[in-house]
Amino acid sequence: MKGLPIQNIPENILKYYQKLEDEYNRNLQVYQSLFYQNPEGVFSLDLDGKFTGANETIATRSECDQATLLKMSFSDFVQPDYLSRALAHFEEAKKGKIERFELKTITAKGNVLDISVKSMPIYVDNAIVGIYCIVTNITNKLKKDKEIKEAIENLEKANIEKNNILESITEGFFAIDSNWKFLYCNKVVERILRMEHKKIIGQYFWDLIDMGNAPMLLEEFRKALAQKTRVNFEMYYKPFNMWLEVTAYPTDNGLSSIIKVINEEKRIEQLFTLEKEALELNASIDNTADTAIEYLIEGLQKIHPDMICSLLHVKNGLLHNWHAPDIPADYLQLIEGTPIGINQGSCGTSAYLKERVIVDDIENNILWDKYKNLALRFGFKACWSIPLLDKGKSAFATFSTYFKTTRIPTGPEMNSFERIGDLLTTIIINKKAEQEILLSKERYDIVAKATNDAIWDCDLKTRSVIWNNGISSIFGYNPSEVAYTTEWALRHIHIEDRRRVIDKITFQLQQKENTFSDEFRCLCADGSYKYVQNKAFVMNDPKTGKAIRIIGALQDVTIQKQTELKLLELNEALKLRADQLAVSNTELERFAYVASHDLQEPLRTITSFLQLFKKKYAGKIDETADNYITFAVEGADRMKQLIMDMLEYSRVNTQLKLNEEVDMHQVVREVLFNFSGKIKLSGAVIDVADNLPIIHAVKTQMMQIFQNLISNAIKYQKVAVPPHIVIDAIEKEQEWEFSVKDDGIGIDPKFFDKIFVIFQRLHSKTQYAGTGIGLAICKKIVEKHRGRLWVTSIPQEGSTFYFTIPKK
Ligand code: ADP
Repeated sequence: MKGLPIQNIPENILKYYQKLEDEYNRNLQVYQSLFYQNPEGVFSLDLDGKFTGANETIATRSECDQATLLKMSFSDFVQPDYLSRALAHFEEAKKGKIERFELKTITAKGNVLDISVKSMPIYVDNAIVGIYCIVTNITNKLKKDKEIKEAIENLEKANIEKNNILESITEGFFAIDSNWKFLYCNKVVERILRMEHKKIIGQYFWDLIDMGNAPMLLEEFRKALAQKTRVNFEMYYKPFNMWLEVTAYPTDNGLSSIIKVINEEKRIEQLFTLEKEALELNASIDNTADTAIEYLIEGLQKIHPDMICSLLHVKNGLLHNWHAPDIPADYLQLIEGTPIGINQGSCGTSAYLKERVIVDDIENNILWDKYKNLALRFGFKACWSIPLLDKGKSAFATFSTYFKTTRIPTGPEMNSFERIGDLLTTIIINKKAEQEILLSKERYDIVAKATNDAIWDCDLKTRSVIWNNGISSIFGYNPSEVAYTTEWALRHIHIEDRRRVIDKITFQLQQKENTFSDEFRCLCADGSYKYVQNKAFVMNDPKTGKAIRIIGALQDVTIQKQTELKLLELNEALKLRADQLAVSNTELERFAYVASHDLQEPLRTITSFLQLFKKKYAGKIDETADNYITFAVEGADRMKQLIMDMLEYSRVNTQLKLNEEVDMHQVVREVLFNFSGKIKLSGAVIDVADNLPIIHAVKTQMMQIFQNLISNAIKYQKVAVPPHIVIDAIEKEQEWEFSVKDDGIGIDPKFFDKIFVIFQRLHSKTQYAGTGIGLAICKKIVEKHRGRLWVTSIPQEGSTFYFTIPKK
């Protein structure tokens, strides 16, 4: 149009062009304001990527002035990592596409900018001549996005961590909302509730928990929610047979709770309590061991409801029921008295081997072959048994538990089972020992009472002395006035005895000999003294061997002592009397001898003169004179006989020499020979035993005895009855006992003593001749031989005279 002068251009065309120009100018302005005043960065590139235009925003952001920019390419500002991507987008734009992409650029000053680019082709006459780009600075946005992303990531991480923590803790964790709906629960809770996570979440609390069995839980949770406070409690939840410790914290919209299964703790706690209570029961003297045993076994069954326990006695190799509260009586009866041994079920085997036997499956265990049908009939499928051993390590009982399912023990079960087994052993052994102690104490008490001794027990270390009631019953002290010390005890020993007693005890403590005895006087409460015999025992410390205690018994021997003293006095007096008697006896015997000997001479004179007188005057004076003469002669004869007898009697006193061996058979034979006339005359039958011994004695005196006894036996016969006489001898431990038995007239027992006294007779001379000296002589002879002479008799039936001669 330049070639055409304006004046030559028609008006309308000019106007049209003017209009076009205006339109162009306006469009240019629109374009420029869109381009240059756009708050977003706007730039254009030629097809080579060189800047053809860039607004102020771009200049500012790229920290490069516009003039410089127009000399540069876009790629000069792209961070190398993003270059290929940017170029690829530009290539697409060059193909006519509108591309959107983000990249990092580097400003002229080296700062990094995150930008979002929207690129589109520039069309001129339908041909793409360049690229037009709108740039948004997204540095801050990205930063924020990153922060958000990071925050989200952190959150997720924290959440995972939280969940991991909640899942990894051994406690159960759950959260409920204010409507008691489950919001969250960890695996432990799933296990406790025996339910999957998804079946728990969203459910109402009471749909999963049997609130009737958890009244405490309901109450405490309500409290936590209402008072916004933490609660902590323990509860037993029967449906699961579980002890739980529950802690709950109020949250913004509900409650979080930690639950811990404390079965093991609770089991141990219950076991402790059970053991403690059983021991307390056992400690009471009034209770037998069975009380504690029953308590223990039943208690264990409560702690472990699956266990069916049994305690069996082992006696002489056989098992007997002791206590098994939950085992059917029929079963117990059928196993009563079964022997212990290998393959004798769990109990029989464990008692035999003295070790624990765990049978987890009765049906398939050889140990139970003999009894499995029986056990299975009662539903028993497993049985564990432990032997209870005494101090000598022999099994006196077995403790066992049956199960209705096949099973091996869990650690806690075995622990409980063995603990109770140990305690049963302790209780039974202790009770036995206690009973033995009680028994011996009882015996001691009885002995103490029966002996009425004052028993004392002195602790040498503390110098204290314990007394039994003898201190009152013997010495009359009120227990309150006794000072229980060694000093007190010693102070009450008579001053004259005290030193000796102390010395003896001191000496005794050094000795190996543990027992000693002594006699002394003790002061009584009433001021008198009693003689006591003290028998004491020193106890030594088994480790050091040093004396630590002395235990003694004081026996009141006052009466014995007094009797003893009296006896001594009496003995003295007797001895004196005996001496006096001996003197007078000797004198008497001497007198008798002398008298009888000396009297013979004048008597002989009298007799001879009387006989002369009789010869010369008999029949010459008168009858009376004759009688007088006869009386005088007879009197003189009798006197002669008496004197002879006395002489003979006194001769027995001569000292005996007993070393002579005398054959008593021979003696009797000689006597019988001498009496043969007499025997014949009387028609006597005399039986002599064969066993008459040889003894140490004086033969002539033995002959004298038999002469007297046999002649009496013949003499004192019943009228017209020929006597039957038996002579016998019995050997005793220390002596020979001889006897002469007749069937004569017998002797009234009231005269048994009299007949042995010199010149004492039971009959007149006219009835039976004699002087009454025979038995007196026999007695004297026997006593001189240190023997005895006596008689037994029944009047009219006969008499037996016995005498003994000692063997030595
Ligand atoms: P004596 O025969 O000379 O009288 P003894 O001393 O031998 O003297 O006996 C004393 C008394 O004992 C006798 O008198 C007589 O009564 C009685 N006596 C002795 N032996 C027997 C006897 N075997 N049977 C019955 N009485 C007897």
